[in-house]
Amino acid sequence: MSFDYDLFVIGGGSGGVRAARVAAGDTSATVALAEESRLGGTCVIRGCVPKKLMVFASTYSEAMREAQDYGWNVIPGGFSWPKFQTRLETELDRLEEIYGNLLDSSGVKVFDQRATLADPHTVQLADGTKITAKHILVATGGWPVLPDLPNADLGITSNEIFHLPELPKSILIVGGGYIACEFACILNGLGVKVCQYYRGAQILRGFDDEARGHIAEHMKRHGIDLHTGTNILEMEKRDGGIWVKSTTGTEMTFDQVMFATGRNPNTKGMGLEQLGIEIGRRGEIVVDDYSQTAVPSIYAIGDVTNRVQLTPVAIREGMAFVETVFKGNPTKPDHVLIPSAVFTQPEMGTIGLSEEEARDLEPIEIYCTSFRPMQQAFIGRDDRVLMKLVVSQQTRKVLGCHIVADHAGEMIQLAGVAIKMGATKEDFDRTVAVHPTISEELVTLKTPVRTA
Ligand code: NDP
Repeated sequence: MSFDYDLFVIGGGSGGVRAARVAAGDTSATVALAEESRLGGTCVIRGCVPKKLMVFASTYSEAMREAQDYGWNVIPGGFSWPKFQTRLETELDRLEEIYGNLLDSSGVKVFDQRATLADPHTVQLADGTKITAKHILVATGGWPVLPDLPNADLGITSNEIFHLPELPKSILIVGGGYIACEFACILNGLGVKVCQYYRGAQILRGFDDEARGHIAEHMKRHGIDLHTGTNILEMEKRDGGIWVKSTTGTEMTFDQVMFATGRNPNTKGMGLEQLGIEIGRRGEIVVDDYSQTAVPSIYAIGDVTNRVQLTPVAIREGMAFVETVFKGNPTKPDHVLIPSAVFTQPEMGTIGLSEEEARDLEPIEIYCTSFRPMQQAFIGRDDRVLMKLVVSQQTRKVLGCHIVADHAGEMIQLAGVAIKMGATKEDFDRTVAVHPTISEELVTLKTPVRTA
């Protein structure tokens, strides 16, 4: 049977674009890709990239205060949101163009339209065109979900935050995950009065408890009005703002409410179930270890599979798919020991098991220190950093590393190499410190603070 293409990719985000261009570039496969919005997807257009640029913008307020204490004669002016936005849009246009050029130069045919599945080897574009392919890769990502609450549509999500015509004076952020905490810190740094509601006892559920507590303390000390054990009970438009009554009985009015209450896979209306593809509880495409669905010609990677919602993981899944299907080298994406960072202020860099997870599995030692870093201690700041290693008593392997400090994301990338290689505590100890740095503490932690 002959097909129009060897591979049709639905979704032009990080995972889909990488799979398409590697399949087309490294093998002789003919490849097409459909994207209904902008090339680059969540990461480039409405996620990691614009978010990180906003993180940079927001840190200058504190940097200017610190500069003054270091002796600089700095007179901070106001932050110009329109100026930042213009530059941001130019940058995103540039990146989108790069993605388009990469696909073009690899010989991938791009359709700027929504595509759905018509049968195991056929996609249908929004204009009705049907295209056949030997293999179909679904990489349609995820989308923010609003809670089931009357008037929830008065609120925005992280998708809209980059496009606000002006920065709000006050905002309520709902949620306690990556996005909620990152944007609470960003907007606080940009001068917005930030209140955050999280329904649980402590933000950043799933991360190491000590690290979570450290970040929450820091956020509160820097002016974020964080309410744990709290959710929205009622909300409505009132007095030119959004009036909110919380589950703890407080009533407040905000210029904006932002929901960061999770993201669901983009699978609605794709024709997946009709073909016999299994859909999970959160709407995710269920795949095997090789990203193959229940329909052998159809694979899925990235956030739409709800395995690990991280860009570099989607890219790895895309590459493993190409190895498996186009290079005759069956490859499972490796989901073990993934380093990651939460871009709060300060950042958290983390890899491996939390203390709580590890102690349920085996006897462990905890090495941990919290101290005022030199740069801030010099000017009398109380902010502290946290460096923590979770170590197996039996194998001596470092099972987890958790860092809360400026640039923790950069640090954990490198610590991650050692930990992925199976480094023991003694390997860390044998490494000479780089002095004076914050990260040198990772190799000078002498005595366990506790065992469990
Ligand atoms: P998360 O799943 O991390 O967090 C969702 C938050 O919303 C949780 O605190 C959750 O509470 C809360 N929540 C869920 N439903 C409700 C509700 N009905 N009412 C009130 N609160 C609710 O999702 P995010 O949207 O923050 O991020 C999505 C994914 O994107 C992350 O999992 C992450 O993988 C990825 N991401 C990664 C980043 C990075 O690497 N730096 C940055 C941003 C996103 P509870 O804890 O009780 O469930």
